[in-house]
Amino acid sequence: MFDYKKNDDEMGSLIYRLNSLVEKNLEFANNLYLFEEVFLHLKQMILISDKNNNIVFINKEFEKTYGFSLAEVKGRSLEVFKSAKTEVNENKTLWISLTQQKSFQTTTWHKNKLGKKFPLDLNFIVLKNSSGSVINYISIFSDISEQVENEKKSWQQSNLDNLTGLYNRQYLIKTLNKDLETAKRNKLLLALLVIDVDGFKLINDLQGHDAGDKLLVHVAKLLQANVRETDTVSRLSGDELVVVLSSVANIYDVKKVSSELLSAITVPILINDIETSVSASIGIAVCSVDNANCSVDGLIRQADVAVHKAKSLGKNRVDFYEQSMQKDMANIVNIHKELLRAIKNDELRLYYQPVIEVSSGLITGAEALVRWQHPKKGLLFPDSFIVIAEEMGSIVQLGKWVIDKSHRQGVEWKESALFGENKKFQININVSPQQCSDNFKTILEQLVEIKEQNELLGMDDFLQIEVTESMLFNDSENLINKFNEIRGLGFKLLIDDFGTGYSSLSYLKKFPINKLKIDRSFIKDLETDKESRPLVEAIISMSHALKIEVVAEGVETQYHKDLLTNLNCEYMQGYFYSKAVPAKEFEKMILDQKIKEK
Ligand code: C2E
Ligand code: CA
Ligand code: CA
Repeated sequence: MFDYKKNDDEMGSLIYRLNSLVEKNLEFANNLYLFEEVFLHLKQMILISDKNNNIVFINKEFEKTYGFSLAEVKGRSLEVFKSAKTEVNENKTLWISLTQQKSFQTTTWHKNKLGKKFPLDLNFIVLKNSSGSVINYISIFSDISEQVENEKKSWQQSNLDNLTGLYNRQYLIKTLNKDLETAKRNKLLLALLVIDVDGFKLINDLQGHDAGDKLLVHVAKLLQANVRETDTVSRLSGDELVVVLSSVANIYDVKKVSSELLSAITVPILINDIETSVSASIGIAVCSVDNANCSVDGLIRQADVAVHKAKSLGKNRVDFYEQSMQKDMANIVNIHKELLRAIKNDELRLYYQPVIEVSSGLITGAEALVRWQHPKKGLLFPDSFIVIAEEMGSIVQLGKWVIDKSHRQGVEWKESALFGENKKFQININVSPQQCSDNFKTILEQLVEIKEQNELLGMDDFLQIEVTESMLFNDSENLINKFNEIRGLGFKLLIDDFGTGYSSLSYLKKFPINKLKIDRSFIKDLETDKESRPLVEAIISMSHALKIEVVAEGVETQYHKDLLTNLNCEYMQGYFYSKAVPAKEFEKMILDQKIKEK
């Protein structure tokens, strides 16, 4: 560089000043370059426009996100972004603010050149000179898609059901509170429908959880398609779905919508290529105009009571909650308590229905059927208390009593001269699913004890256990182990009510069973329904192929007897022979039989 300090003439000082000016400019240019680089490569989008709203500058990030190049838009009005399919409303804030305010920050949605929508966080600055005139507008944008997406995900996680995409319980409760207020304010009705898919558990167990899931998704879609947008469809738990019809004019509208839902659900569908018939039970609770005390919890509870009622009345139906239903619940609790007392007070009785061996025509066994000699109501049949005992848990005590009583009775008969010679004699007892689930230990210990007593007495095991077909779909591996334990002790196993469930004979093969009892509904239909006979025939021949003996129950006529004899059914029971009778009467029947035999 020129050494100006050594020249003290004017030229020297000029060069000195020029030199320092160049240095300053260089610094300025450097800074400008630096700022430009920062602007260009900043991860935020920058748009600078002049006082007339003509674009001066956009940075790389802006170009990338909006799909416009700087060359394309420089000097053009901000309106250019309208051609990028921006929605006027969404951008209105931006354009108005550009001209009116000094600075502001907002969140908005824009569209890029291709029409893709994205959310933005926008900071906006107005640059003015010392006299207050606008020089430039600077807009700094950030694409907040990720943040918005995360917020959306976390909202979905806390408000939506993963499987069906329906709202979850938490959301339902939140909106139900609001819906209730709106309905009350507008003097309209609100109805809460609990929809329970009939036989869902069975499909889940039989066709797998994947099929169960598909079924739920299918029903969820149907419900959404058949209600108004203002109604809420949610999934409370498992197969329990809820529809809230908010603000309906009258009860007939509720009835209409619920029957439409039911019809939509009953259209058969293909699940994993299997045609599946679906139905549902719907329980409805209504918050009426005059009922100021409706609460969220109360409504759900009432609709639950109603859906139980719908199920117990045969499923595939709609039932409304009524005050009387609450009495039903109280009644159920009462019967359960009374039943526990009845077991202690020895109010239960066993009746015996003879089982006839077809080949010999003789009574070779009996099915023990429980009755309740109620002190006030008289003799009660199991239909009025077994389901309650199963639901409320007293079936374990009841079952224990039945096993103990029938064993003692059997020992007495076997030891008496009357039955002593009949080696084949068997007593069938009914065992409920609840006795084979968590309470299995109770029954197993009892059977072990019985086995030991029989050994001491030198007696064969004469008890046969009847379990219903529906039980087989629960946790089958575990159940097979339990059945093997029972069989291992020497007791025979029999599948009751065969044909009412969904099992095929090949499915039955998995279970260690000795006998199968064709449900009485098939036998009853033999005379009238043409399809019943080939069905019964197929069940018998396939059972024989699997070395399973067949019992026909509900044999009521000579026709039944002859037909089943021809089909080689091994055992029969039914009113044609006898109804279930007290032990003393049963003894008399055996006595008569012995007389006839001689
Ligand atoms: P189930 O095991 O299917 O018992 C047969 C039922 O059919 C009995 O009714 C019997 O009286 C009836 N029945 C017998 N022959 C005929 C006939 O020819 N025609 C018609 N229409 N019906 C006939 P019950 O005694 O009222 O028992 C009803 C159900 O209660 C039983 O059905 C069984 O599921 C249950 N149950 C009975 N006793 C017990 C028990 O000790 N424990 C358990 N867990 N359940 C029991
Ligand atoms: Ca039975
Ligand atoms: Ca049966």
